[in-house]
Amino acid sequence: MSTTTSIVTEEQKPEVEQIEIWKCKGTECKAWVRKEFVTEALPTCPLCKTQMVRSYKHVPVAAKKGNKKFLVGKKRF
Ligand SMILES: [Zn+2]
Repeated sequence: MSTTTSIVTEEQKPEVEQIEIWKCKGTECKAWVRKEFVTEALPTCPLCKTQMVRSYKHVPVAAKKGNKKFLVGKKRF
């Protein structure tokens, strides 16, 4: 049996940026919000009311460029 090793090159690496967020402490809850959208000093989760903690998240930069290709329904038959 041969081992298939996929080599990830630099050009395949998606462009990401690190943003500051508040994220929910709840283990089951995946809620988070960008820090810039939060005005409270100690926000609570809008979903489960658990206290939130400061964190960082990496998001793809491409998402910011207004990628609407998949949102418009202009399919013609
Ligand atoms: Zn929560």
